[in-house]
Amino acid sequence: MKRKESWKKLTEIIHEIKEIKTKISDWKKQGHSVGFVPTMGALHIGHESLIERARKENNKVIVSIFVNPIQFGPNEDYEKYPRQMDADKNICEKYGVDIIFAPLHQEMYPENTEITTVVPPGSYQDKLCGKSRIGHFNGVATVVSKLFNIVKPDTAYFGQKDAQQLIIIKKMVKDLNIPVEIISCPIIREQDGLACSSRNAYLSQDERIKALSVSKVLNKINEQYLSGVNSSRKLIENSLPLLDSDIKLEYLEILDAETLSNIQTVKDNTLVAIAVKVGNVRLIDNLLIYTASKK
Ligand code: AMP
Repeated sequence: MKRKESWKKLTEIIHEIKEIKTKISDWKKQGHSVGFVPTMGALHIGHESLIERARKENNKVIVSIFVNPIQFGPNEDYEKYPRQMDADKNICEKYGVDIIFAPLHQEMYPENTEITTVVPPGSYQDKLCGKSRIGHFNGVATVVSKLFNIVKPDTAYFGQKDAQQLIIIKKMVKDLNIPVEIISCPIIREQDGLACSSRNAYLSQDERIKALSVSKVLNKINEQYLSGVNSSRKLIENSLPLLDSDIKLEYLEILDAETLSNIQTVKDNTLVAIAVKVGNVRLIDNLLIYTASKK
C-alpha cells in the first residue's frame, strides 16, 4: 500500500503514433528500459497485477488502451465493450505509469486501406477459443505486432488468463524474431474464485453466482490430478458435473501448455482450459497443472 503511494504520479495520455515514438526514442537514448502492458482498457485488478510487475521491473512503463476492432467477430461485443478512460487513468496513476498510449482508430487502421495481417499457425488457432472465434487471433497477433513496432518495449506483460493468446504471442515473437521479452503473469481472481475479467460487469447477480462453478470445475481437475488421476478423459468426466446446469459449455480441453497439442495423459506443463456462456456472457478460465501441483 505504502509502496503504491510512492509510485503515484500523473500519467500522460498520448494518442498519436508519431508523438509516442519520439518520446520513447528519447527514453532509449537516455538508457531507460521500457515495460509495456497492452490492454483493451476497463482495467481491473488482473490488469493491475501486470502493471505493478511492469512498474517494478522497468524505468518506464507504457499501458496501451485500444479496443481492437479486428479481433472481434461480427456478432461479438465490440460496440458495447466497456470504455472508461478516466477510471483507467486513475488506476495507471496509482502505479506510476508514465504513458497511456490510446492510439486512434484511423491511424491504426486507415479507412479504405487493406492492411498486412499476421497469421499465427493453424495448429495454434484451430482449438480452444480459435474454434469459435474465427480470425480472432489474426486480429490479436496483428495489433500486438503493430503495438510492439510502435512502442519497441524491452519487456511486455501478458496474463495467463488468456492462455491461448499468451502462447500465440510467444510463438509469434519467436518466429518473427521480435526483440521483446514476454512475461507471463498469473491469473488474478476475485475472492470467491471467479477470474477477473472486464466482461464480468455484464453478469447479473444470479449469473455471477452460477459462474463460480467454472473455477470449481478447474479446481476439481487439479484435486483429482493431485490424488493420482492422470487420464484427461477421466479428469474431465469426473469434474464436469460440477458446472452449473444453466451454463453452456463451449469447451473444456486438456492440452500441452506450449504447443497446444492434445494430451491424453496429463504431465507437467499441461493446460486445462474452459470456455462457457453464462446467459449471453462468454467467460474463459484455465489452470496450469504444473504450476498448481508445485504450490
Ligand atoms: P484485455 O484488456 O482483456 O485485452 O487484457 C489485457 C491483459 O490483461 C491480457 O494480457 C490479459 O491476459 C490480462 N488479464 C486480463 N484479465 C486478467 C486476470 N484476471 N489475471 C491476470 N491477467 C489478466
